[in-house]
Amino acid sequence: MASITLKTPHSGDYEQPTGLFINNEFVKAVDGKTFEVINPTDETVICSVQEASEKDVDLAVAAARKAFQGEWRLKTTPEQRGKYLVNLADLFEENMDLLAAVESLDNGKAITMAKGDVGACVGCLRYYGGWADKIEGKVVDTSPDAFNYIRKEPIGVCGQIIPWNFPLLMWAWKIGPAVATGNCVVIKTAEQTPLSALVACTLIKKAGFPPGVINVISGFGKIAGAALSSHMDVDKVAFTGSTVVGRQIMKAAAGSNLKRVTLELGGKSPNIVFADADIDNAISWVNFGIYYNHGQCCCAGSRVYVQEGIYDKFIQRFKERAAKNAVGDPFHEDTFQGPQVSQLQFDRIMGYIEEGKKAGATVEVGGNRIGTKGFFIEPTIFSNVTEDMKIVQEEIFGPVCTVSKFKTKEEVIELGNNTTYGLAAAVHTTNLNTAIEVANSLKAGTVWVNSYNSLHWQLPFGGVKESGHGRELGEAALDNYLQTKTVSIRLGDALFG
Ligand code: NAP
Ligand code: MG
Repeated sequence: MASITLKTPHSGDYEQPTGLFINNEFVKAVDGKTFEVINPTDETVICSVQEASEKDVDLAVAAARKAFQGEWRLKTTPEQRGKYLVNLADLFEENMDLLAAVESLDNGKAITMAKGDVGACVGCLRYYGGWADKIEGKVVDTSPDAFNYIRKEPIGVCGQIIPWNFPLLMWAWKIGPAVATGNCVVIKTAEQTPLSALVACTLIKKAGFPPGVINVISGFGKIAGAALSSHMDVDKVAFTGSTVVGRQIMKAAAGSNLKRVTLELGGKSPNIVFADADIDNAISWVNFGIYYNHGQCCCAGSRVYVQEGIYDKFIQRFKERAAKNAVGDPFHEDTFQGPQVSQLQFDRIMGYIEEGKKAGATVEVGGNRIGTKGFFIEPTIFSNVTEDMKIVQEEIFGPVCTVSKFKTKEEVIELGNNTTYGLAAAVHTTNLNTAIEVANSLKAGTVWVNSYNSLHWQLPFGGVKESGHGRELGEAALDNYLQTKTVSIRLGDALFG
């Protein structure tokens, strides 16, 4: 099946698969449709890839079902599942430079960050490889004439819909726990960033996975994503993306076969700095909290709250820090921030910046496009904001944050929780009691203390409120992919009744 020779400044020439990955083969879409993939750095077309329709979703689901009912379920031991995942982790490690380069080409993320993502994929896949032979049930004693055992079984065929902000990492986060627990998957990548996942698919067969266990399709959310979430033969759907689409996924599940749903959605996370914080550290983490991955993080620390005693000093130093972030070509080793992923996202973010200016907020730094080609935006800080402003309430998903002043711990807990979201939060302080009290009071799935974005595959991650439900990573993610069966055996020869 078709592939195309592409080139990146980091890896040189490489073969880019462009097909749909079904049954361990790259195939053409049934209708033969393709769509263009855009380079966000210079707005040129990189290549075209096959576009999945409902018919292709049907084929991918059928492949996953066949694998689940056949070889994967009946002949593959947990140890073997683990080995395949560890093999895949090793192959990711061996191919780190290529995978990272394709990620930077397609998504625009800085190459050093892309390598970090690949490293995290390796850790995640290896970690879940280790879990595969540790899925255990229970024996429960209810009476001398019964033997009851409780099995943890895979759910079956899982549809997984992922976004464009961490194309490879989300792929690994989804595959790891699903496959470790014995499920088969159909993953739909985001239309903006299909390329790195397709390169990763070339490693699946090499890792030893039987055909149909992992299927990956490129396509549009409204077509392929909707078909997957409303499919009658998909047993579970896992989604990462916007809250708006998360609602549609739940509706599609409810309107079809009531498939299980887990959602990892947006956020508007508070990053709280107390006057007793180590200010140099706090500024570094606040800067990293909002500008990492160009602000395109579901857990971005986009609402910064600073205690009044250090507010003026903080703003001054944070401005200087943000203005120094190296924005530019993602393939330069010293670049920290590349372009936003697409024209649409660029327009959305610039719209929010205009909105903030009109609402009367002060632009402390940034606020403009950089250059005329590529979707580059200056790191931007707004001050003089009020809680009711759109830029304080809505997820911007770009390099834009707001800074507000607070007086007391009680006040900032209330402000921190003043959002419909609840994904992440952080508190910076040298007082242990303050750290624990604030961390325990914030309604968020993760709270960092004197740090930000410190995710790890061993630690559960996910939201409360409208940031979704279900947890990714850690042991907790296994629960998303297991169901409980009770087997109760009557012992002895006593007659019923
Ligand atoms: P999105 O539409 O929620 O995209 C996420 C995934 O859902 C993509 O694979 C998308 O497909 C798919 N999708 C879209 N409509 C669907 C539908 N009706 N049924 C099933 N799947 C569907 O996000 P976006 O439009 O790219 O970005 C919009 C905003 O979402 C951002 O500004 C940001 O606020 C938020 N977002 C959050 C995250 C996160 O990590 N939580 C990630 C990305 C975006 P296609 O892209 O192929 O159409
Ligand atoms: Mg979309």
